[in-house]
Amino acid sequence: MAIVEIKVPDIGDFAEVTVIELMVAPGDTIKPEQSLITVESDKASMEIPSSHGGVVKELKVKLGDKVKEGSIVLLLEAAGAEASAAPAPAAAPAKAAPVAASVAAAPAPAASSFGGSADIECDLLVLGAGPGGYSAAFRAADLGLKVVIIERYATLGGVCLNVGCIPSKALLHVAAVMDEVAHLGDLGVDFGKPVVNIDKLRGHKEKVIGKLTGGLAAMAKMRKVTTVRGYGAFVGANHVEVEETTGDGQEKTGTKKVVAFKKCIIAAGSQAVRLPFMPNDPRVVDSTGALELKEVPKRMLILGGGIIGLEMGTVYSTLGARLDVVEMMDGLMQGADRDLVKIWQKMNAPRFDNIMLKTKTVGARALPEGIEVTFAATEEGGTAPAPQVYDLVLQAVGRTPNGKKIAADKAGVAVTDRGFINVDIQMRTNVPHIFAIGDILGQPMLAHKAVHEAHGAAEVIAGELQGNKELAAAAFNARVIPSVAYTDPEVAWVGLTEDQARA
Ligand SMILES: Cc1cc2nc3c(=O)[nH]c(=O)nc-3n(C[C@H](O)[C@H](O)[C@H](O)COP(=O)(O)OP(=O)(O)OC[C@H]3O[C@@H](n4cnc5c(N)ncnc54)[C@H](O)[C@@H]3O)c2cc1C
Repeated sequence: MAIVEIKVPDIGDFAEVTVIELMVAPGDTIKPEQSLITVESDKASMEIPSSHGGVVKELKVKLGDKVKEGSIVLLLEAAGAEASAAPAPAAAPAKAAPVAASVAAAPAPAASSFGGSADIECDLLVLGAGPGGYSAAFRAADLGLKVVIIERYATLGGVCLNVGCIPSKALLHVAAVMDEVAHLGDLGVDFGKPVVNIDKLRGHKEKVIGKLTGGLAAMAKMRKVTTVRGYGAFVGANHVEVEETTGDGQEKTGTKKVVAFKKCIIAAGSQAVRLPFMPNDPRVVDSTGALELKEVPKRMLILGGGIIGLEMGTVYSTLGARLDVVEMMDGLMQGADRDLVKIWQKMNAPRFDNIMLKTKTVGARALPEGIEVTFAATEEGGTAPAPQVYDLVLQAVGRTPNGKKIAADKAGVAVTDRGFINVDIQMRTNVPHIFAIGDILGQPMLAHKAVHEAHGAAEVIAGELQGNKELAAAAFNARVIPSVAYTDPEVAWVGLTEDQARA
């Protein structure tokens, strides 16, 4: 067994990049080409793969470190022939943000051949009915294509309409009105203390969702888009098999349908990351659980100081919860200008008991009195807060793509280790007749980005099928994509931050 130094390979034009994610730990067995760390420049992020397979002996980098070509990432006990044979792979190319900015290159699998018969045939199959999927399906249908959309849940709209943007904004609106009314007391107009009927509030949120998802179903019908309810997975390069589902969740009916397509758009989205050491307990939720609004906790911990966590925190704190937030980086709302965040933090200070920066959560256990959470400093020599007990813990540490759950390899579509799919600016995957859009491509995971990508992909497909060169040349090549935190105050930004511009 030889000890091999795994180094940062050629990373193109970037002199120095920051380590933002460690993907392996000492003792892990890794394969050649497996991603080890994610690094970020001002323009993009990329994964650094291993040149060898073996067992990780020692990590030589930590979060926040600056590295460059040749920096040692880790020491590896490399196995047999692999110790000398494998050439150092190049880092996954950093694409200009925003198209699939955080995804690594992935090997292309060979497609399977499907010999069965199809129940439905279409020009375009769209897998997933979130903002990306329904927008693509509607645009393609408007352009004259025969479209089938597959969705595992009962309603169209995906994360955004059912458990994301829309319900969170419905609740944030109520919180904003409550905060405004409270402020009026300082100006001499007092409405008294609000009385919250949580069941009615939840009902209001459900009604808003129902109205919008119902509207989408009607729009699909009007356009003659065929909706197939069930879990779709590729069985070949031109076929998807759907295990039909029913009820409120993903209950299987036991029946299957095969859909044959000329072209396909993968819009299967993402789901919340769950930390492996978190106990399985109703007092530990992700954003979907938090939006269920079962009750208002006294003490709530938000894991991750990003937009989703802070938006949900705003709702719960206005309803009466005291907040703590823990964030590994040195500030909340990463990506926004620090000047804006400073003002936001000052105005929101009364909501928080503790804002724990440069701190990570390292353990949690369910006790009768609450969830006890243990912390550690991310920097050597830093001090960690003492363990705390919470009535509710919201995990808002990011979202992971669904790329590995659709048997994409059967269609020959390459998926990265982490489940992302790479595309070009026309949203085309490595398989020319299969496209991908939305969260499954990588950051930024935003609904409006998915919608624009969807329109571009649908136009390219219609153009190619109908011999319309103008449509076939469509592309999504946004220079910047706006982000908004719908907190109080709202924070919106686009392009480089001041820090990035200076660097
Ligand atoms: C709490 C929260 C708040 C948010 N707020 C905002 C906001 O204010 N603004 C904003 O721009 N973005 C917001 N987002 C992000 C936004 O929801 C996503 O970027 C957006 O939904 C991505 O759209 P999509 O079409 O790529 O995927 P999704 O919305 O994830 O839709 C994918 C769909 O595919 C279906 N699917 C997946 N696999 C299969 C399969 N194998 N078979 C059948 N169906 C399948 C899923 O059930 C899902 O319906 C928020 C997200 C969350 C969680």
